[in-house]
Amino acid sequence: MNRIFNFSAGPCTLPVPALESAAAEFLEFQGKGMSLIEMSHRSKEYDAVHMEAMDLVRRLYGVPDNYKILFLGGGATLQFSMVPMNLMGAGGQCDLTLTGAWAKKALADAKKIGTVNVVFDGSDDNFMSLPEAGNLKVNEGAAYFHVTSNETIGGVQWKSFPDTGDVPLVCDMSSDFVSRHIDVSKFGLIYAGAQKNAGPAGTSIVIIRDDLLERSSDNLTAYLNYSIHAAKDSMYNTPPVFPIYMVMKTLKWLEDEGGLVAAEKMAADRSGLIYGAMAKNSGFYNSPVNENCRSLMNIVFRLPSEDLEKTFVAQALENGMSGLKGHRSVGGCRASVYNSMPVAGAQALADFMDEFAAKNG
Ligand SMILES: *Cc1c(COP(=O)(O)O)cnc(C)c1O
Repeated sequence: MNRIFNFSAGPCTLPVPALESAAAEFLEFQGKGMSLIEMSHRSKEYDAVHMEAMDLVRRLYGVPDNYKILFLGGGATLQFSMVPMNLMGAGGQCDLTLTGAWAKKALADAKKIGTVNVVFDGSDDNFMSLPEAGNLKVNEGAAYFHVTSNETIGGVQWKSFPDTGDVPLVCDMSSDFVSRHIDVSKFGLIYAGAQKNAGPAGTSIVIIRDDLLERSSDNLTAYLNYSIHAAKDSMYNTPPVFPIYMVMKTLKWLEDEGGLVAAEKMAADRSGLIYGAMAKNSGFYNSPVNENCRSLMNIVFRLPSEDLEKTFVAQALENGMSGLKGHRSVGGCRASVYNSMPVAGAQALADFMDEFAAKNG
């Protein structure tokens, strides 16, 4: 076996112990003569997996009792519709911070449901900066206030969140979920596609405050209605059993590593190494992102020319590091260093960056 350091933005690298444990029990789960994915989702074996996955989210974040945890299909993208459909309703209004490519998609879908007040627009600055959390105006009549905690493509990350008072704060946390401490009680709803920090593609995690469930209209079709999923602990229909199982394995690994304390430490170490290599070779590597909002998860950088960027990505691959090409919409290079990327991977990349700059600078 020859596992390489995979810097892909998502789906992305997962913890080896989680993969090994899943492989070991894949053909026969807990002596039942079948794999977990062949088993009824109503079985007591699957039920234990499902409940443990939810409980791990609750334990890692210290989610208060008045919040429900849901596992849904449709990726984070479905949440771009479910959030406005459930919390705002047709003809309502919400606030949104336009901070990059993902916020833009959340905006486009919310606009089809109601009026969206864009309270911050980073497009003039090519989405390379974020506002001061304290300087944002919250509209009294807004059904909620939407932020994207980490822009996976642009590489900007909120370091602290706005205080939105009585207006529920809603956050797309897809690409920095369970990577740092947050006070869940400051949020009305958090959602995240699993495939960037919490597991494989195929499920998204929603944490929603109980009182917001009352906003879901009976006119919504069943799958699109949060309150229906919440009432059945995400077992209203067949849940995505295998992704949820892998989320359970991945989060269990994180808990065993030391939970969010360990996640924060690893994120600081990894990003310190890579931003450090950029600073050391600062004429060669450039970050387009404003220093005060650089992401610890998706590190975006440019080289002196597109040709050098191509060579960099190709030679990194020859040296056992993949997925370093920037998103096609912005170009350049990007190292995605989520929870499961070993610090040794960031060290290998930092060393390679030094060598490459020395040779080509
Ligand atoms: C990847 C991503 C999404 C979209 O997730 P899907 O699961 O592909 O629908 C949304 N928001 C952010 C911040 C992301 O990184």
